[in-house]
Amino acid sequence: MFTSQEISDIKNLLSPNKNIVIITHHNPDGDAIGSSLGLKNFLKNKGIEATVLVPNDFPKFLKWMPNSKEIIISEYKRKKAGEAIYKADVIFCLDFNAASRIGILGDWFTKSWAKKILIDHHQQPENFDFVYSDTSVPATCQMIYHFIEALDEVNLIGKGVAECLYTGIMTDTGGFRFRSTSAETHRITGNLIEKGADPAMISSNTWDTNTISRLHLLALVLGRIETVQDGEVAILWLKREELQNLGFQKGDTEGFVNYGLSIKGTKVSAFFMEDLYEDFIKISFRSKDATDVNQFSRKYFNGGGHINAAGGRCDKTLEQTILEFKEIIAIEKL
Ligand code: 5GP
Ligand code: MN
Repeated sequence: MFTSQEISDIKNLLSPNKNIVIITHHNPDGDAIGSSLGLKNFLKNKGIEATVLVPNDFPKFLKWMPNSKEIIISEYKRKKAGEAIYKADVIFCLDFNAASRIGILGDWFTKSWAKKILIDHHQQPENFDFVYSDTSVPATCQMIYHFIEALDEVNLIGKGVAECLYTGIMTDTGGFRFRSTSAETHRITGNLIEKGADPAMISSNTWDTNTISRLHLLALVLGRIETVQDGEVAILWLKREELQNLGFQKGDTEGFVNYGLSIKGTKVSAFFMEDLYEDFIKISFRSKDATDVNQFSRKYFNGGGHINAAGGRCDKTLEQTILEFKEIIAIEKL
Protein backbone atom coordinates (compact mmCIF):
# COMPACT_ATOMS: atom_id res chain seq x y z
CA MET A 1 0.00 0.00 0.00
CA PHE A 2 1.03 3.63 -0.36
CA THR A 3 2.63 5.20 2.72
CA SER A 4 0.42 7.47 4.82
CA GLN A 5 2.35 10.47 3.47
CA GLU A 6 1.60 9.30 -0.08
CA ILE A 7 -2.05 8.78 0.75
CA SER A 8 -2.30 12.32 2.04
CA ASP A 9 -0.49 13.63 -1.08
CA ILE A 10 -2.88 11.66 -3.30
CA LYS A 11 -5.86 13.01 -1.34
CA ASN A 12 -4.66 16.51 -2.16
CA LEU A 13 -4.45 15.61 -5.85
CA LEU A 14 -8.00 14.27 -5.91
CA SER A 15 -10.06 17.40 -6.29
CA PRO A 16 -12.77 18.46 -8.75
CA ASN A 17 -10.57 21.13 -10.34
CA LYS A 18 -7.91 18.61 -11.39
CA ASN A 19 -7.98 16.71 -14.67
CA ILE A 20 -7.89 13.07 -13.70
CA VAL A 21 -7.29 10.33 -16.24
CA ILE A 22 -7.39 6.58 -15.72
CA ILE A 23 -5.46 4.35 -18.13
CA THR A 24 -5.31 0.61 -18.48
CA HIS A 25 -3.59 -1.90 -20.74
CA HIS A 26 -3.95 -2.86 -24.41
CA ASN A 27 -6.59 -5.56 -24.97
CA PRO A 28 -8.33 -4.74 -21.69
CA ASP A 29 -9.71 -7.68 -19.70
CA GLY A 30 -12.20 -7.90 -16.83
CA ASP A 31 -9.71 -6.68 -14.24
CA ALA A 32 -8.54 -3.79 -16.43
CA ILE A 33 -12.06 -2.54 -17.16
CA GLY A 34 -13.35 -3.42 -13.67
CA SER A 35 -10.59 -1.52 -11.87
CA SER A 36 -10.80 1.50 -14.21
CA LEU A 37 -14.58 1.81 -14.01
CA GLY A 38 -14.58 0.91 -10.32
CA LEU A 39 -12.21 3.80 -9.59
CA LYS A 40 -14.06 6.14 -11.95
CA ASN A 41 -17.41 5.37 -10.31
CA PHE A 42 -15.88 5.78 -6.85
CA LEU A 43 -14.45 9.19 -7.78
CA LYS A 44 -17.86 10.16 -9.21
CA ASN A 45 -19.38 9.36 -5.81
CA LYS A 46 -16.78 11.74 -4.37
CA GLY A 47 -17.93 14.44 -6.79
CA ILE A 48 -14.90 14.10 -9.08
CA GLU A 49 -15.12 13.35 -12.79
CA ALA A 50 -12.35 11.15 -14.22
CA THR A 51 -11.76 10.10 -17.82
CA VAL A 52 -11.06 6.44 -18.56
CA LEU A 53 -8.87 5.79 -21.61
CA VAL A 54 -8.23 2.35 -23.07
CA PRO A 55 -5.78 1.87 -25.95
CA ASN A 56 -8.11 -0.36 -27.98
CA ASP A 57 -11.58 -1.83 -27.86
CA PHE A 58 -12.66 -4.32 -25.18
CA PRO A 59 -14.89 -7.43 -25.40
CA LYS A 60 -18.67 -7.14 -25.56
CA PHE A 61 -19.04 -9.26 -22.44
CA LEU A 62 -17.61 -6.37 -20.39
CA LYS A 63 -19.86 -3.69 -21.86
CA TRP A 64 -22.66 -4.21 -19.35
CA MET A 65 -20.59 -2.60 -16.60
CA PRO A 66 -21.87 0.67 -15.11
CA ASN A 67 -20.65 3.70 -17.15
CA SER A 68 -18.73 1.55 -19.65
CA LYS A 69 -20.12 3.79 -22.40
CA GLU A 70 -18.08 6.68 -21.01
CA ILE A 71 -14.79 4.89 -21.70
CA ILE A 72 -12.78 6.50 -24.49
CA ILE A 73 -11.47 3.87 -26.87
CA SER A 74 -8.31 5.58 -28.07
CA GLU A 75 -7.91 3.68 -31.37
CA TYR A 76 -11.28 5.17 -32.45
CA LYS A 77 -10.87 8.59 -30.80
CA ARG A 78 -7.20 9.42 -31.05
CA LYS A 79 -7.59 13.18 -30.82
CA LYS A 80 -9.77 13.04 -27.73
CA ALA A 81 -7.42 10.54 -26.06
CA GLY A 82 -4.33 12.61 -26.87
CA GLU A 83 -5.96 15.77 -25.51
CA ALA A 84 -7.05 14.04 -22.32
CA ILE A 85 -3.48 12.95 -21.60
CA TYR A 86 -2.08 16.34 -22.57
CA LYS A 87 -4.42 18.10 -20.13
CA ALA A 88 -4.11 15.54 -17.34
CA ASP A 89 -2.86 16.59 -13.90
CA VAL A 90 -3.10 13.06 -12.52
CA ILE A 91 -2.95 9.74 -14.36
CA PHE A 92 -3.95 6.52 -12.62
CA CYS A 93 -2.20 3.53 -14.20
CA LEU A 94 -4.19 0.42 -13.49
CA ASP A 95 -3.45 -3.25 -14.19
CA PHE A 96 -0.24 -2.55 -16.14
CA ASN A 97 3.20 -1.34 -15.08
CA ALA A 98 5.14 -0.49 -18.26
CA ALA A 99 4.51 2.12 -20.97
CA SER A 100 4.95 -0.60 -23.60
CA ARG A 101 1.69 -2.19 -22.39
CA ILE A 102 -0.60 0.72 -23.32
CA GLY A 103 -0.23 0.58 -27.09
CA ILE A 104 -0.90 3.87 -28.87
CA LEU A 105 -1.09 5.77 -25.56
CA GLY A 106 2.53 4.98 -24.69
CA ASP A 107 4.23 7.99 -26.31
CA TRP A 108 1.78 10.60 -25.03
CA PHE A 109 1.92 9.00 -21.61
CA THR A 110 5.71 9.04 -21.43
CA LYS A 111 5.81 12.72 -22.36
CA SER A 112 3.10 13.78 -19.90
CA TRP A 113 4.01 15.82 -16.82
CA ALA A 114 1.02 14.54 -14.88
CA LYS A 115 1.51 12.83 -11.53
CA LYS A 116 1.45 9.13 -12.34
CA ILE A 117 -0.11 6.80 -9.79
CA LEU A 118 0.46 3.08 -10.28
CA ILE A 119 -1.90 0.47 -8.84
CA ASP A 120 -0.99 -2.92 -10.27
CA HIS A 121 -0.15 -6.55 -9.51
CA HIS A 122 2.24 -7.48 -12.35
CA GLN A 123 5.93 -8.32 -11.96
CA GLN A 124 8.74 -5.73 -12.26
CA PRO A 125 7.14 -2.26 -12.40
CA GLU A 126 8.75 0.71 -14.16
CA ASN A 127 9.06 4.09 -12.40
CA PHE A 128 5.95 6.07 -11.43
CA ASP A 129 5.44 8.99 -9.02
CA PHE A 130 3.36 6.86 -6.65
CA VAL A 131 3.66 3.09 -6.66
CA TYR A 132 1.29 0.55 -5.15
CA SER A 133 2.55 -2.70 -6.65
CA ASP A 134 1.85 -6.07 -5.07
CA THR A 135 2.27 -9.26 -7.07
CA SER A 136 0.68 -11.38 -4.36
CA VAL A 137 -2.75 -9.83 -4.90
CA PRO A 138 -4.85 -11.69 -7.48
CA ALA A 139 -6.53 -8.66 -9.06
CA THR A 140 -6.00 -4.93 -9.45
CA CYS A 141 -9.67 -4.59 -8.44
CA GLN A 142 -8.78 -5.96 -5.00
CA MET A 143 -6.05 -3.30 -4.77
CA ILE A 144 -8.54 -0.56 -5.68
CA TYR A 145 -10.64 -1.75 -2.74
CA HIS A 146 -7.56 -1.52 -0.46
CA PHE A 147 -6.80 1.93 -1.85
CA ILE A 148 -10.35 3.09 -1.05
CA GLU A 149 -9.94 1.61 2.44
CA ALA A 150 -6.68 3.55 2.83
CA LEU A 151 -8.54 6.73 1.84
CA ASP A 152 -11.02 5.77 4.58
CA GLU A 153 -13.91 6.03 2.12
CA VAL A 154 -15.38 2.53 1.91
CA ASN A 155 -18.71 4.24 2.62
CA LEU A 156 -18.52 5.71 -0.91
CA ILE A 157 -18.60 2.26 -2.52
CA GLY A 158 -22.08 1.99 -4.02
CA LYS A 159 -23.59 -0.71 -6.21
CA GLY A 160 -21.87 0.61 -9.37
CA VAL A 161 -18.40 0.52 -7.81
CA ALA A 162 -19.06 -2.86 -6.17
CA GLU A 163 -20.16 -4.48 -9.44
CA CYS A 164 -17.04 -3.34 -11.27
CA LEU A 165 -14.61 -4.42 -8.55
CA TYR A 166 -16.35 -7.77 -8.09
CA THR A 167 -16.09 -8.46 -11.83
CA GLY A 168 -12.33 -7.93 -11.98
CA ILE A 169 -11.69 -10.06 -8.90
CA MET A 170 -13.90 -12.79 -10.32
CA THR A 171 -12.25 -12.82 -13.75
CA ASP A 172 -8.61 -12.48 -12.61
CA THR A 173 -9.01 -15.31 -10.07
CA GLY A 174 -10.63 -17.53 -12.71
CA GLY A 175 -13.79 -17.61 -10.62
CA PHE A 176 -12.02 -17.62 -7.21
CA ARG A 177 -9.86 -20.62 -8.15
CA PHE A 178 -6.31 -19.39 -8.79
CA ARG A 179 -3.46 -19.58 -6.32
CA SER A 180 -3.44 -16.03 -4.99
CA THR A 181 -7.15 -16.17 -4.08
CA SER A 182 -7.08 -15.59 -0.31
CA ALA A 183 -9.33 -15.18 2.68
CA GLU A 184 -8.80 -11.45 2.16
CA THR A 185 -10.08 -11.79 -1.41
CA HIS A 186 -13.25 -13.44 -0.12
CA ARG A 187 -13.63 -10.90 2.68
CA ILE A 188 -13.54 -8.13 0.11
CA THR A 189 -15.92 -9.82 -2.32
CA GLY A 190 -18.24 -10.45 0.66
CA ASN A 191 -18.22 -6.72 1.37
CA LEU A 192 -18.82 -5.97 -2.31
CA ILE A 193 -21.85 -8.27 -2.31
CA GLU A 194 -23.15 -6.37 0.72
CA LYS A 195 -22.66 -3.15 -1.24
CA GLY A 196 -24.88 -4.46 -4.03
CA ALA A 197 -22.80 -6.67 -6.34
CA ASP A 198 -24.94 -9.63 -7.44
CA PRO A 199 -22.69 -12.69 -8.07
CA ALA A 200 -25.24 -14.55 -10.21
CA MET A 201 -25.94 -11.51 -12.41
CA ILE A 202 -22.25 -10.66 -12.79
CA SER A 203 -21.06 -14.17 -13.65
CA SER A 204 -23.97 -14.64 -16.03
CA ASN A 205 -23.34 -11.28 -17.78
CA THR A 206 -19.64 -12.01 -18.05
CA TRP A 207 -19.51 -15.71 -18.77
CA ASP A 208 -22.86 -16.90 -20.13
CA THR A 209 -22.49 -14.75 -23.18
CA ASN A 210 -20.64 -17.08 -25.52
CA THR A 211 -20.85 -16.25 -29.19
CA ILE A 212 -21.31 -19.12 -31.62
CA SER A 213 -17.98 -18.14 -33.16
CA ARG A 214 -16.27 -18.62 -29.78
CA LEU A 215 -17.70 -22.10 -29.37
CA HIS A 216 -16.71 -23.07 -32.91
CA LEU A 217 -13.19 -21.78 -32.34
CA LEU A 218 -13.02 -23.61 -29.00
CA ALA A 219 -14.11 -26.85 -30.65
CA LEU A 220 -11.35 -26.44 -33.21
CA VAL A 221 -8.68 -25.68 -30.62
CA LEU A 222 -9.69 -28.48 -28.25
CA GLY A 223 -9.83 -30.94 -31.13
CA ARG A 224 -6.11 -30.59 -31.78
CA ILE A 225 -4.59 -29.77 -28.43
CA GLU A 226 -1.14 -31.36 -28.19
CA THR A 227 1.11 -32.17 -25.27
CA VAL A 228 4.91 -32.39 -25.29
CA GLN A 229 7.65 -32.94 -22.70
CA ASP A 230 6.03 -36.09 -21.31
CA GLY A 231 2.65 -34.42 -21.03
CA GLU A 232 3.96 -31.48 -19.00
CA VAL A 233 3.41 -28.82 -21.66
CA ALA A 234 0.17 -28.32 -23.61
CA ILE A 235 0.14 -26.46 -26.92
CA LEU A 236 -2.87 -24.82 -28.58
CA TRP A 237 -3.00 -22.64 -31.66
CA LEU A 238 -5.22 -20.76 -34.11
CA LYS A 239 -4.50 -19.39 -37.56
CA ARG A 240 -5.77 -16.09 -38.92
CA GLU A 241 -7.67 -17.82 -41.67
CA GLU A 242 -9.50 -19.98 -39.12
CA LEU A 243 -10.41 -16.91 -37.09
CA GLN A 244 -11.78 -15.26 -40.20
CA ASN A 245 -13.66 -18.33 -41.41
CA LEU A 246 -15.36 -18.91 -38.08
CA GLY A 247 -16.32 -15.24 -37.64
CA PHE A 248 -13.94 -14.28 -34.80
CA GLN A 249 -15.12 -11.42 -32.58
CA LYS A 250 -13.05 -9.60 -29.98
CA GLY A 251 -12.79 -11.63 -26.77
CA ASP A 252 -13.72 -14.95 -28.41
CA THR A 253 -10.48 -16.67 -27.48
CA GLU A 254 -10.27 -15.30 -23.92
CA GLY A 255 -9.44 -18.17 -21.53
CA PHE A 256 -8.74 -20.80 -24.20
CA VAL A 257 -5.23 -21.23 -22.84
CA ASN A 258 -6.61 -22.47 -19.51
CA TYR A 259 -7.93 -25.66 -21.09
CA GLY A 260 -4.34 -26.81 -21.56
CA LEU A 261 -3.75 -26.60 -17.82
CA SER A 262 -6.88 -28.64 -17.07
CA ILE A 263 -5.18 -31.75 -18.45
CA LYS A 264 -3.89 -33.95 -15.63
CA GLY A 265 -0.12 -33.71 -15.36
CA THR A 266 0.42 -30.46 -17.30
CA LYS A 267 2.59 -27.76 -15.78
CA VAL A 268 2.40 -25.22 -18.60
CA SER A 269 -0.08 -24.33 -21.31
CA ALA A 270 0.84 -22.18 -24.32
CA PHE A 271 -1.65 -20.74 -26.79
CA PHE A 272 -0.38 -19.27 -30.07
CA MET A 273 -2.61 -17.12 -32.21
CA GLU A 274 -1.94 -15.28 -35.45
CA ASP A 275 -2.93 -11.63 -35.22
CA LEU A 276 -5.86 -10.76 -37.47
CA TYR A 277 -4.21 -7.76 -39.12
CA GLU A 278 -0.48 -7.73 -38.48
CA ASP A 279 2.12 -10.42 -39.04
CA PHE A 280 2.93 -11.50 -35.53
CA ILE A 281 1.92 -14.26 -33.15
CA LYS A 282 0.24 -13.38 -29.86
CA ILE A 283 1.18 -15.92 -27.20
CA SER A 284 -0.51 -16.69 -23.88
CA PHE A 285 1.20 -18.76 -21.22
CA ARG A 286 -0.34 -20.27 -18.11
CA SER A 287 1.39 -22.43 -15.49
CA LYS A 288 0.85 -24.24 -12.22
CA ASP A 289 2.61 -23.69 -8.89
CA ALA A 290 6.21 -22.43 -8.99
CA THR A 291 6.70 -22.73 -12.76
CA ASP A 292 7.45 -19.13 -13.78
CA VAL A 293 6.10 -18.16 -17.19
CA ASN A 294 6.71 -14.44 -16.56
CA GLN A 295 10.49 -14.91 -16.61
CA PHE A 296 10.22 -17.34 -19.51
CA SER A 297 8.13 -14.99 -21.62
CA ARG A 298 10.34 -12.01 -20.80
CA LYS A 299 13.45 -13.95 -21.81
CA TYR A 300 12.23 -15.53 -25.04
CA PHE A 301 9.05 -13.89 -26.25
CA ASN A 302 9.28 -10.19 -25.52
CA GLY A 303 6.52 -10.40 -22.92
CA GLY A 304 5.80 -10.75 -19.24
CA GLY A 305 2.96 -10.73 -16.74
CA HIS A 306 2.62 -12.90 -13.65
CA ILE A 307 4.40 -16.06 -12.49
CA ASN A 308 1.40 -18.21 -13.51
CA ALA A 309 -0.05 -16.10 -16.35
CA ALA A 310 1.93 -14.20 -18.92
CA GLY A 311 1.72 -13.03 -22.49
CA GLY A 312 4.25 -12.52 -25.23
CA ARG A 313 4.70 -12.16 -28.97
CA CYS A 314 6.85 -13.40 -31.80
CA ASP A 315 7.33 -11.91 -35.26
CA LYS A 316 7.93 -15.24 -37.00
CA THR A 317 5.30 -17.45 -38.63
CA LEU A 318 3.01 -19.58 -36.49
CA GLU A 319 4.83 -22.79 -37.45
CA GLN A 320 8.25 -21.26 -36.74
CA THR A 321 7.09 -19.82 -33.43
CA ILE A 322 5.72 -23.13 -32.17
CA LEU A 323 8.83 -24.96 -33.36
CA GLU A 324 11.05 -22.43 -31.61
CA PHE A 325 9.01 -22.80 -28.43
CA LYS A 326 9.41 -26.57 -28.53
CA GLU A 327 13.16 -26.23 -29.07
CA ILE A 328 13.52 -23.82 -26.18
CA ILE A 329 11.59 -25.98 -23.72
CA ALA A 330 13.55 -29.04 -24.76
CA ILE A 331 16.74 -27.28 -23.66
CA GLU A 332 15.51 -25.06 -20.83
CA LYS A 333 13.06 -27.17 -18.90
CA LEU A 334 10.16 -25.03 -17.78
P1 5GP B 1 -2.98 -12.90 -21.58
O1 5GP B 1 -2.34 -14.22 -21.85
O2 5GP B 1 -4.33 -13.07 -20.94
O3 5GP B 1 -2.96 -11.97 -22.73
O4 5GP B 1 -2.07 -12.21 -20.49
C1 5GP B 1 -1.72 -12.81 -19.28
C2 5GP B 1 -1.13 -11.78 -18.35
O5 5GP B 1 0.11 -11.32 -18.87
C3 5GP B 1 -2.00 -10.55 -18.18
O6 5GP B 1 -1.95 -10.16 -16.84
C4 5GP B 1 -1.38 -9.53 -19.07
O7 5GP B 1 -1.55 -8.23 -18.56
C5 5GP B 1 0.08 -9.93 -19.13
N1 5GP B 1 0.63 -9.75 -20.48
C6 5GP B 1 0.07 -10.16 -21.65
N2 5GP B 1 0.84 -9.85 -22.71
C7 5GP B 1 1.92 -9.20 -22.20
C8 5GP B 1 3.09 -8.62 -22.80
O8 5GP B 1 3.30 -8.62 -24.01
N3 5GP B 1 3.97 -8.03 -21.94
C9 5GP B 1 3.78 -8.01 -20.59
N4 5GP B 1 4.70 -7.42 -19.82
N5 5GP B 1 2.71 -8.55 -20.00
C10 5GP B 1 1.78 -9.15 -20.78
MN1 MN C 1 -5.15 -7.99 -13.57
